[in-house]
Amino acid sequence: MVLQLWFEYYPILQPLFVGICFCLAWGIIGLLVWNLGSAIAYSIRTSQRMHQIPCSRCRYFTNDSHLKCPVRPDIALSEAAISCGDFAPPPSLTLEI
Ligand code: SF4
Repeated sequence: MVLQLWFEYYPILQPLFVGICFCLAWGIIGLLVWNLGSAIAYSIRTSQRMHQIPCSRCRYFTNDSHLKCPVRPDIALSEAAISCGDFAPPPSLTLEI
């Protein structure tokens, strides 16, 4: 029954199917490109945010996996450390006269 209807109306509806398939194909390609672009943008944003964490440039950073920072161990190397008030740059190697 359905197959008979299909063969009967297929020549009439074929231009409509071509249009629908064209839109679906380009829509899927558009979604893929958009998804890829948003993933790249998210990675760049996350990377920029991670580079704002100042712990690796801090005087108190120990680079030890057991205790990364004795001053603020709860936020060391996390996003919360971006606004850490205890950040102190390492002592300068230049001599002051
Ligand atoms: S004092 Fe703050 S900025 Fe310095 S290592 Fe500890 S958490 Fe990071």
